Amino acid sequence: MSITLSDQAHAGIHGLHTYVPGKPIEDLKRELGLTSIVKLASNENPFGTAPAVKRALAAFASEGGNDLHRYPDGNGFALKHKLAERHDIEMSRITLGNGSNDVLELTARVFLGPGKNAVFSQYAFAVYPIVARAVNAETRVVPALGAEADMPYGHDLDGFLEHIDENTGVVFIASPNNPTGTWLAPGAIEAFMDAVPAGVVVVLDEAYLEYQADSERPNSRAWLERYPNLIVTRTFSKIYGMAGLRVGYALSSAEVADLINRVRQPFNVNIVAMHCAEAALADDDFVVYSTETNAVQRASLSQELEARGLACLPSQANFITFDCGRASTPLFDAMLREGVIVRPLASYEMPEHLRVTVGSEEENRIFLTALDAVLAGA
Ligand SMILES: *Cc1c(COP(=O)(O)O)cnc(C)c1O
Repeated sequence: MSITLSDQAHAGIHGLHTYVPGKPIEDLKRELGLTSIVKLASNENPFGTAPAVKRALAAFASEGGNDLHRYPDGNGFALKHKLAERHDIEMSRITLGNGSNDVLELTARVFLGPGKNAVFSQYAFAVYPIVARAVNAETRVVPALGAEADMPYGHDLDGFLEHIDENTGVVFIASPNNPTGTWLAPGAIEAFMDAVPAGVVVVLDEAYLEYQADSERPNSRAWLERYPNLIVTRTFSKIYGMAGLRVGYALSSAEVADLINRVRQPFNVNIVAMHCAEAALADDDFVVYSTETNAVQRASLSQELEARGLACLPSQANFITFDCGRASTPLFDAMLREGVIVRPLASYEMPEHLRVTVGSEEENRIFLTALDAVLAGA
């Protein structure tokens, strides 16, 4: 009997599939010979990168990219210093990541492994099972709230508590969650933290926090003082339009940050990305513009979808997930031929839903026109 190299991979790897990202614009151009494409597939900022970041990047380049032959500051002092001010937190409680994905993975490497389990919701972010299985941990999927619930397809925190046991290493919660857009009331998260055993690490993924209405947004920073097992993750990818640069971070207790830093690659965030993230933190105007425009466009887009009989999940994020009432992958394919890229959710076990990023007013109009053409032909 010959052994294949696949047999040599550990058991966790066998349960994994390579993450399928939103279809890149260049792929579609190449495949269909299209020139004008609207991509609303990856929850990217439709207004591009924050202007302050572009200025910082230009200045960095014109200074000859002076330090690119040097390793970055592995401790990320300058960026952490600014983040510490922003969040009124000690630098020792900040962990920088190559995107917040990186921080999720580091957390899994510290607190998960064979014999441990990770608890997260059905229809939650696809990265949670990847990072858990990659370290050969068990994954426990909590059934989501039903389609008829106030928060359809949302996290069921009572269900989470039932799935946690003495071997649970990490609980992943996303609020707002991707791919549903649903969110948790601050009081519900707080009650959950009170009920979770102190030895279980809870990751609260706030990638879309900025897009929430003030009244819905939790003060997770304050919770960090009460719950040493809480890790809050944030990203520069969405609100600052820096998905291509890859910077995210975690806020936690100093003890947890120290543990995570032990497994972190010494230079996980590159010089350019850190430089740009520092600049981004000074661009409040772009944040305000992006969030306000998103709120207006999100409301109008969901109204347009509902008017077409396509039920939308409630969203406090920069995307809307809607029910097509039929298999959505053929609609996704047909939309591609119209030059519009959205996200089919079959891989999330939501085969009749599509997720569309809230674009600019013009992009949303193009999306709706393409959708109408496709629905008319379907
Ligand atoms: C987009 C997203 C992130 C951000 O990932 P980065 O690695 O920071 O780009 C994190 N969590 C969720 C739920 C997301 O949708």
